[in-house]
Amino acid sequence: MHTQNKYERFLQALRQAGLRVTPQRKAICRYLAETDQHPSAYQVYARLESSHPEISRATVYNTLNTLQQLGAIVELSLGSDHTHYDTNPEPHVNLICLRCHKIIDYHGQLGIELLSAQVLAETGFQTAAAKIDLLGFCAECREQRRAEIQMQAQQQK
Ligand SMILES: [Zn+2]
Ligand SMILES: [Zn+2]
Repeated sequence: MHTQNKYERFLQALRQAGLRVTPQRKAICRYLAETDQHPSAYQVYARLESSHPEISRATVYNTLNTLQQLGAIVELSLGSDHTHYDTNPEPHVNLICLRCHKIIDYHGQLGIELLSAQVLAETGFQTAAAKIDLLGFCAECREQRRAEIQMQAQQQK
């Protein structure tokens, strides 16, 4: 989805929730629309802190919370201290690395439509949004892990 469309969508969600669209909230929505990362609340705050010193941590947390309750963004929980937000509204697969906590969007041939159709036929559940998380290890971490194992093996010789 285009950045501008995402931005408008976030603002509309805030208006629907009855929130005033202040310059601070606009800056937060702008950042969420532009990023291709899956930032945590703190990362959003840290990112905006220097350019928008008037934005409080509470405003960031409240705005993210509201957007999440409205389904405009999706909370990804990676253990207790690793809550991140997915700002991409389109069906896609998140590749979540358990080691470096990097989250990559995967947009290949998905089969999400097939899955939704099968679920609807079997259970009557109509899918409104789809987000699939694959947990595992990214290419860099697998490479590092291999190097570590080789090193351990050499030390044991
Ligand atoms: Zn990794
Ligand atoms: Zn994602």
